[in-house]
Amino acid sequence: MNSVRTARRSFLKLFAGVPPAAGLLMAGRTDAAAPQPPQAPQGRDVIQELRVRTFINAAGTFTALSGSLMLPEVRAAMQVAARRFVRLEDLNDAVSTRLAELLRCEAGLVTAGCASAMMLGTAACLTGTDTARIRRLPDTTGMRNEVIVQRSHRVGYDHAIRNTGARMIEVRTSQELVKAINGRTAMLFYLNASTDRGSIRHEEFVRLGRQHKIPTLIDTAADVPPVDNLFRFQKIGFDLVCFSGGKGLRGPQSAGLLLGRKDLIAAARLNNCPNADAIARTNKVNKEEIVGMLVAVEMFLKRDHEAVWKDWQGRCHRIAAALKGFDDVRTSMNVPAIANHVPHLRITWEVKRRGVTAGEVVRRLRDGKPSIELAPGAGGSGGNLTIGVWMMEPGEDAVVAERLRTILGGGR
Ligand SMILES: *Cc1c(COP(=O)(O)O)cnc(C)c1O
Repeated sequence: MNSVRTARRSFLKLFAGVPPAAGLLMAGRTDAAAPQPPQAPQGRDVIQELRVRTFINAAGTFTALSGSLMLPEVRAAMQVAARRFVRLEDLNDAVSTRLAELLRCEAGLVTAGCASAMMLGTAACLTGTDTARIRRLPDTTGMRNEVIVQRSHRVGYDHAIRNTGARMIEVRTSQELVKAINGRTAMLFYLNASTDRGSIRHEEFVRLGRQHKIPTLIDTAADVPPVDNLFRFQKIGFDLVCFSGGKGLRGPQSAGLLLGRKDLIAAARLNNCPNADAIARTNKVNKEEIVGMLVAVEMFLKRDHEAVWKDWQGRCHRIAAALKGFDDVRTSMNVPAIANHVPHLRITWEVKRRGVTAGEVVRRLRDGKPSIELAPGAGGSGGNLTIGVWMMEPGEDAVVAERLRTILGGGR
């Protein structure tokens, strides 16, 4: 870690004061004797200038921790896009067609995160392509404005649905759902992460929607991997499918995907930026993010997911191996069933024997150099923690392992 940072710094120092064009020429030179640091940053390091703490992400794709890191290919495509003007609607048309081909749906839209996809999908169901209605939202006068949801599928993020002025109607069973359908029903909402907690499963939910001609929308924000999930819900028959762009897909953190029926995506787009008198004018997506999102999807489809999974497992094993010497410390690999379905490492210990609580470990990891951040909410007075390994950069698992071994071993 440190040697990479040092190398990077001296690389920058080397080119300080060299005119940019000459710097580029020199940087492009292939000189085997002087290895180039990989991807030396081109611009100012504003985060460092502002002295804002950066850290090894041992948590996962948490928005509050800035999500995931975009892949180099995504960043590069965004840089190139940043140098051109386009009509946003031309770009949206072209990207919709490309997303439809890639993800086997009728149409697609890059939105300002999954939350915006949820809001736009709902707005589409409320307004259709009626301009007067689009302008009226979130006043839903004269529109269907009820969204039916299983009680166990309520989630803070459904605020995005309520932004449109829609009301959430809670049901528990398919019988209750059918009874709740009336002339005001605009949409049926399904939260994929809560599948195991609800009594109505995907296929039945979609069937009920079709039977009563009510569009269905599914929130699958954090549900890739597995890669199959990028196709699965359109195939089951959901009319609208919403993904986060900046979680497992490693696209722009402020981007997301709305996939689905052509007529509904068209209506969603009328409710979206660049239209001024539209509810999602506040959720602008720039051309760089649109392009970056598309490239992230392409990269995700091309990835060797098995190899990536093995790499994540390897990280868990290496951290666990570093803690083998403590006989009260137990480690196990845990893969959440649906959202964030990737290997995590669970660690438990006897607080009396180790002399530290989880809260203290969290604090000391954060205060160390380099700083290491665990999931928001990790800690407490017990002896257990979960380490998310999938957002670590290569080699960082060794740093985390060493720090954990030191802290649990009673060292400084
Ligand atoms: C993260 C998340 C969202 C919001 O996604 P953004 O891309 O950050 O807008 C919505 N629903 C669920 C279940 C999520 O986990």
